[in-house]
Amino acid sequence: MKVRTRFAPSPTGFVHIGGLRTALYNYLFAKKHAGTFILRIEDTDRTRFVEGATENLLSVIEWAGLTPDEGPAGGGRFAPYYQSQRTEIYVRFAQQLLDKGFAYYAFDTPEDIEALRKKAQENGGQPPKYDYQTRGQMRNSLTMSAAQVKDALAAGVPHVIRLKIPSERVFEVNDLIRGAVTFHSSQVDDQVLLKSDGYPTYHLANVVDDHLMEITHVIRGEEWLSSVPKHLYLYECFGWQAPQMAHLPLIFNPDGSKMSKRDITSLTALPAGKVDPDVASYIKKGYEKEAIINYIALLGWNPGEGDERQVFTLAELVNEFSLERVNKSAAIFDLKKLDWLNAQHIMRRNIDELTDQVIQDLQTQQHEIPARKYLKQVVELMQPRLPFRTQFYDLSVYFFKDPEQYDPEVVKKRWKEDSIKLILEFVTESAKLEVYEKTAIEHTLHTIAEREQVGLGRIIHPIRLAVSGTGAGPGLYEMLEVLGKETVIRRLQTAVKKIPALI
Ligand code: GLU
Repeated sequence: MKVRTRFAPSPTGFVHIGGLRTALYNYLFAKKHAGTFILRIEDTDRTRFVEGATENLLSVIEWAGLTPDEGPAGGGRFAPYYQSQRTEIYVRFAQQLLDKGFAYYAFDTPEDIEALRKKAQENGGQPPKYDYQTRGQMRNSLTMSAAQVKDALAAGVPHVIRLKIPSERVFEVNDLIRGAVTFHSSQVDDQVLLKSDGYPTYHLANVVDDHLMEITHVIRGEEWLSSVPKHLYLYECFGWQAPQMAHLPLIFNPDGSKMSKRDITSLTALPAGKVDPDVASYIKKGYEKEAIINYIALLGWNPGEGDERQVFTLAELVNEFSLERVNKSAAIFDLKKLDWLNAQHIMRRNIDELTDQVIQDLQTQQHEIPARKYLKQVVELMQPRLPFRTQFYDLSVYFFKDPEQYDPEVVKKRWKEDSIKLILEFVTESAKLEVYEKTAIEHTLHTIAEREQVGLGRIIHPIRLAVSGTGAGPGLYEMLEVLGKETVIRRLQTAVKKIPALI
């Protein structure tokens, strides 16, 4: 059996972190088994239509590198992949169910449904259910005569088609993550399959398409588990074999609540205990794609007991992934871990590629682009200390401009009465160096420290401050080498004039 998985989102606005995880796991599982990954747009709920939502979704999937083998963009054997373009298929299959007596027409008005709701409330606040207990009192083809039904249809009375769920049945699914899960049919309502606008509901369209598109594994969020009995019954009515199913654990905010976009204005000002569920916010903030994918993969999956690896590329994830290693329990979104992975992925990037990306960032930020060779050296020094690639310029600005200010905290802490003298000695010694490179610089600094009988820190810290204006950065020797002798001497001479005035 050739594995075929699908990501079947309903584009109703933004792409949720959980949605991207579903897409990712489907992709990983398909690729791991040399199978096919399908993207299907479930856009039959016209009341939830949001302009641009589908385009947004397609671009996030593309951005993530989860290119489908079949889908709206590239087509495929089972096109179209937009459910809104497949309505006649669903109508045909709904008719089959009607013909076989598995479904029925219902002509109830909104008032009839409201009355059902009220009655249910009076009967102890049970949620209203249109089911085996109530269907006999409603306006439908089970209670009306054949002639009445015919007339109503001919007159164009608004109606839906409902699935006739049997009263005494137990449905069981052997979920690949959760194990055996059973459902009693008395808990299930007579699901609307075809709505009065002629569009199918999710349940009908989903089952029909999963069958027609030969989906072997349905991998989706746990919120869909409660739909399983309806789907199983539909497969049974059609005489089709149901695909295997795997329901992924939910993802919660750090405070244990459901992730929601409400109350979230920006990633930098998150309410306590909350995170942003919108993938676009993370892209906008400048997280590396690899870090987002890696982090999302770990939201519910791990490489195995005792396996401490955390950093994975997409290709490595394909190799490692298995549904057996997906947790049953909910995952908690941890922004700190994502941040950590972001730095890890920057650290592992090929230096030329990273330099190219930094050039692009600098262009976007409208900074002047330095000579590539010089920039590459700076990138190499900054690579292990970049939380975000987009912060490169701010964190390394002194490689491009002489400092205009000196961090007052560092001045207070590091500038001592002998700083000027030590710096000037270093200037004199540096001038003598023919090759200005890190070992020679290190050696010079050691010599001065010994001669003056001071600790190395006493000389290193003021130099860093004088050259960069800050107290942190890459190793000093490497930094001075990259800056070059001339620049270093010029900056040191300026600093010994300017810094004392700040004290
Ligand atoms: N259209 C559903 C959604 O929006 C798909 C659920 C499923 O994968 O069956 O998530």
